[in-house]
Amino acid sequence: MNIKKGDTVVVITGKDKGKSGKVLEVLIKQNRVIIDGVNIVSRHTKPKSAQEKGGIVKKPAPIDASNVMVMCSCGKATRVAHKIIDGKKVRVCKVCGMSLDKEHAKAVKKDAKKSAKAAKADEVAPKEKKASAKASEKKTSKATSTKKSTTAKTVKKTEE
Ligand SMILES: [Zn+2]
Repeated sequence: MNIKKGDTVVVITGKDKGKSGKVLEVLIKQNRVIIDGVNIVSRHTKPKSAQEKGGIVKKPAPIDASNVMVMCSCGKATRVAHKIIDGKKVRVCKVCGMSLDKEHAKAVKKDAKKSAKAAKADEVAPKEKKASAKASEKKTSKATSTKKSTTAKTVKKTEE
């Protein structure tokens, strides 16, 4: 079960399809969740004491956890991915990559920055390769210069 107490979830199937609410309770053994405002049932109660009134009490009943999806702060219902951050398993939104566990949201952001930097490093790498390719081109340019493109021409100019 990827749902935790306090999560905002969306019901994806059943009579409350489309409804969303906060998870009030997670029943792990039954794989069910109780969601605020979802699957409301009426309980007819008798007055048990002078203070307690009888009547109809409406309250949310548990529904199967597989009928709901976690709502991310990015505004989309998502399936849950997992990521290890600082040795802890963190639930991550599959849509935007943000942590669904608020206490780790910052850590995930940091991680995202890191991967962005890594991506930039990847962008630099091909340039270096080009440079080394040019260098090797210089050495062989005399023999094959007539067939070369503009880059070869510039090489030739610098040689003259
Ligand atoms: Zn998200």
